[in-house]
Amino acid sequence: MAVPELAYLNGRFLPISEAAVPIDDRGLLFGDSLYEVIRVYAGKFFRLDAHLARLEQGARAIELPIAVEELRAVLLELARRSGLGDAFVYLQVTRGVAPRNHVIPPDLEPTVLATVRPLVPLPAEQYEQGARAILRPDIRWGRRDIKATTLLPNILRKTEAARLGCYDVLHYEPDGTITEGSTCNIFGVFNGVLRTHPTGPRILAGITRGAVLDCARELGIPVEERPFTREEVPAAEELFFTDTYCEVLGIVEVDGQPIGQGRPGPLTRRLHAAFRRLVAREARAD
Ligand code: PMP
Repeated sequence: MAVPELAYLNGRFLPISEAAVPIDDRGLLFGDSLYEVIRVYAGKFFRLDAHLARLEQGARAIELPIAVEELRAVLLELARRSGLGDAFVYLQVTRGVAPRNHVIPPDLEPTVLATVRPLVPLPAEQYEQGARAILRPDIRWGRRDIKATTLLPNILRKTEAARLGCYDVLHYEPDGTITEGSTCNIFGVFNGVLRTHPTGPRILAGITRGAVLDCARELGIPVEERPFTREEVPAAEELFFTDTYCEVLGIVEVDGQPIGQGRPGPLTRRLHAAFRRLVAREARAD
């Protein structure tokens, strides 16, 4: 029988409540670990290969040995066993278990854990009304392209935003460059041109970001992977967040000031619709 919420830990599938790691796991002690959040639509993964490729790149950067093909098989099996239609799959690979010491010991066996849970999507009204946001300095480390679980700055920012009734923050660098949110990438429309920060160490190369760029190019919308600054934000015709959870979510207010018409803009809506069509076309169960 299918069991909706399920975990995988180091070779075993088991109920989430029974999955536990030793207290000397370096993921727990140091955040010495990487993760991915992957969306399953009607039982099919969206861009699983891109998520695994991003994980592999991060793993190479921190010298964490991972076997991508094994991980892929585990995730497919986890989703299959859960029997869930719309779900979130969470994958984390830690450096492994060793007595606490900053120096990485050689030949550690990584801890591999994954969970699958039903997806509760954002309410339709949120997409209609759009999201509010606040500008905040980006205080994260300089390798934001590595999807590490060391997320203190992100969770503090996201919590601050939530307490103010906002969906997320717009992070900016000391020179005013907008990078991304604490859980999302950010796009803006300026003079009809779609702009977003280029990939590199200062942002996470979002899978949704990449898919939205694919959609924009397909629709013939002019695109520039060039950052905009906090000074330019009030002049944006549209702004939106992208990530695996929200997909494409219009930003209608920043620091209390309306963006565009104060409603999700036409390009935001077109891109969200195009993104959903892309998902329907591309999502795969193998
Ligand atoms: N930036 C950050 C900091 C994130 O944590 C995420 C993932 N939630 C994203 C961007 C978006 O990435 P993706 O589209 O792959 O979910």
